[in-house]
Amino acid sequence: MNTPVRIIIHGASGRMGQALLRLAGERPEIQVVAAVSRKVAARVVDGVPQFASSELGGVPEFDAAIDFSLPEAFDAVLATCRSRRAALVSGTTGLSASQQEELHAAATEIPVLWSANFSLGVAVLSDLVERAAAALSGWDCDIVESHHVHKKDAPSGTALALGASAERGGAAPRYASLRAGDIVGEHLVQFASLGERIELVHRATNRDIFARGALHAASRLAGRAPGEYRLRDLLG
Ligand code: NAD
Repeated sequence: MNTPVRIIIHGASGRMGQALLRLAGERPEIQVVAAVSRKVAARVVDGVPQFASSELGGVPEFDAAIDFSLPEAFDAVLATCRSRRAALVSGTTGLSASQQEELHAAATEIPVLWSANFSLGVAVLSDLVERAAAALSGWDCDIVESHHVHKKDAPSGTALALGASAERGGAAPRYASLRAGDIVGEHLVQFASLGERIELVHRATNRDIFARGALHAASRLAGRAPGEYRLRDLLG
């Protein structure tokens, strides 16, 4: 068997971090060498060494980091990947314009993949939205996203990415955000004209879809040449 890809999970104590840790355990091609969270309660959990964010510089050697944290934690994980010459897969949303620029700059040194959404369904929806927008010139385009009450950024990163697809098709999307209960993530893209309406909807009912996509991407990204990769480059 090939040597497993050594991964650190940044944001490990969070909703996504916990899904990543659970699903990584089912993949022999991945070895989680560190779980990094803002605070840690124990040094080792289920065989995985735990590190507080203040200890990020001391994590063992790794091939790729998977980051699902918060924008305020992003700079540190990016800097660590650069200094260790390791790949970065990030799904953290709400990054500032300067953080996005830093990510582009880092791509000259390490392989990076940032995606607002790691599900296959949203990748297909994005394509459909661009095609619908191109075919429905002059129609109103509205994107309504719903998430759990703990989500901080609005509109969601996925809504903005779908909006970019609509713009590529020539539409001028408007956004609305709902925060309610424990909704994992819903995105409705509506095209409306006089007397008719088209609705394209994606509903995520389980975070595992994002975690599986990110684990797959990390195992494929490690060891690649520096550059900015897209999810679709690593599928298959
Ligand atoms: P969460 O609040 O449950 O978890 C956040 C994690 O970040 C925790 O482990 C916390 O300890 C850690 N953290 C916070 N501040 C930190 C710091 N200063 N240093 C180090 N770690 C720190 O959030 P979540 O629901 O797991 O979502 C995490 C991120 O992933 C959000 O930005 C969310 O929008 C995004 N997300 C993306 C996708 C996708 O497919 N791209 C899917 C779901 C969620």
